[in-house]
Amino acid sequence: MRSHFKLLRQPSRRTLAVFSVVATLALGTVTTMMVLQMRQSAWDQVSRTSLNLLEITESAIDRNIELYDLSLQAVVEGLQNPRIEGVAPDLRHLILFDRSATANGLGSILALDAQGNVFMDSASQVPRRLQLDDRDFFRVHKARPDVGLYVGEPTRTQKDARLVIPFSRRLAYADGTFAGVVVGAMDVSYLDGLLHRLSIDPGSSVALFRTDGVMLARNPSDHKATGRNIAGSAHFRHYLEHDAGQFVATAKLDNVERFYTFSHIGSRPLIINVNVSVAAIQAIWRTKAIGISVVVLILCLGITGLTLLLQNELERRAQAERAALDANKALAELAATDGLTGLPNRRHFDAVFERLQGQAERTGEGLSLLLIDADRFKLYNDTYGHLAGDEVLRTIARCLKRQVSGPDEVACRIGGEEFGILMLGSAGSEVVFRAEHIRQAVARTQIPHSDQEGGFVTVSIGVAFLTPGSGMTRTECFAAADAALYEAKRRGRNRVMAQLEQDGSLTDNVAAL
Ligand code: GH3
Ligand code: MG
Ligand code: MG
Repeated sequence: MRSHFKLLRQPSRRTLAVFSVVATLALGTVTTMMVLQMRQSAWDQVSRTSLNLLEITESAIDRNIELYDLSLQAVVEGLQNPRIEGVAPDLRHLILFDRSATANGLGSILALDAQGNVFMDSASQVPRRLQLDDRDFFRVHKARPDVGLYVGEPTRTQKDARLVIPFSRRLAYADGTFAGVVVGAMDVSYLDGLLHRLSIDPGSSVALFRTDGVMLARNPSDHKATGRNIAGSAHFRHYLEHDAGQFVATAKLDNVERFYTFSHIGSRPLIINVNVSVAAIQAIWRTKAIGISVVVLILCLGITGLTLLLQNELERRAQAERAALDANKALAELAATDGLTGLPNRRHFDAVFERLQGQAERTGEGLSLLLIDADRFKLYNDTYGHLAGDEVLRTIARCLKRQVSGPDEVACRIGGEEFGILMLGSAGSEVVFRAEHIRQAVARTQIPHSDQEGGFVTVSIGVAFLTPGSGMTRTECFAAADAALYEAKRRGRNRVMAQLEQDGSLTDNVAAL
């Protein structure tokens, strides 16, 4: 019964634990994959949006600069055309600057001679008296004939302190020598306006730079940042090393980690970038991910808790079953034990007799039965009292117990002052010898018994044999042993009588040994 429970309960407790671990692991894995996927799609989404934003801004700025350049080129071509020399000043002004009005955000265009003096001004027929030979664009064009369109450093206008970006082209004589510069100013606020038309998320920014690191415009606006040179910043070299790209870096200025997407505007010395703070990207997926993780964690804890509860309950039941089984076993033992002597009782004797008989028949071994009876015990009780009689029975029981050993021998109290010993394997004179040994062992206790011959407590023993294949039943064997015992009593007690012969004749072993 017990092993049956073990088979049933133990695996089910293990199965529960395995189920709990597997379920928790599966939930954990699925959640981790979901969270990773949410994170990935947030980054993909930001990356795509940044690239789109960049594309739109890049083409809008490029188109505007192209228009700008066309206006400047028209002025350069006009000034270098010899036929324009003879044209009247007002007409010449009109011819040179007619296209300049087409470009948005373009301020007045100035033509400078080789010394940096303004000699033509789109804003007025009488040019302003300005000397601009100290400007970067003037020095660059003067030094290098191959610059093409030059984007100058942002400067503030003298008139109204507007921030403007000078775009310039070189004027050259027919032989290619430096003849001056044509320069137009693009309003930074115009570029800012262009960038501000883009709707961008909080934590993001779009900015336009010159390749030398000077910031030209930015959304959100940052007037302090416009004109500042960021060439020294760690990540600016990425802009110069590649035409376009994306990377994550921490800005030294504010210590904010950002996702940068950048691109050069065509062949122009301009770079546009879109920055999104990593925190803003995390905000897209993290709150949801934390929510899901918390729910899954609660689920996992619930599963583990329930499993532990179930396991405890199973353990509790198993313990209760074990206790009940132990109690039953103890009860069964009690039911098979004689209360006075502690020896197995008649019920147990009968069961063992049956088992050993079966065993004897299987193995062919002999089975012997010894019936032991206290001599003149009624008189002992009468003389010494019932309690003293009980003590004598206990002493005899101890003697008998010491004489048997192993699972194939058993000593029982089969009733009153009568005991039985079953022995499997021994036979004939060997058993009679052992019976005599038992008789002597009791006699050696020397318990005074005045009514018994010799003055001490003694026992008489009847021995019978159940030979396998003889056809003898247990009842017949018992009767034979009882007859031998009766004969022992009749012949004067304190002796062993054995039924050695199949014909029922008895042998007094005392004489035989
Ligand atoms: P015999 O030598 O012929 O066996 O004589 P006997 O007196 O022993 O036999 P009898 O059958 O006349 O008496 C058996 C006695 O055993 C009677 C009874 O008082 C006593 N007896 C039986 N069971 C117990 C017991 O549990 N305790 C005590 N103290 N005496 C018992
Ligand atoms: Mg008796
Ligand atoms: Mg007796």
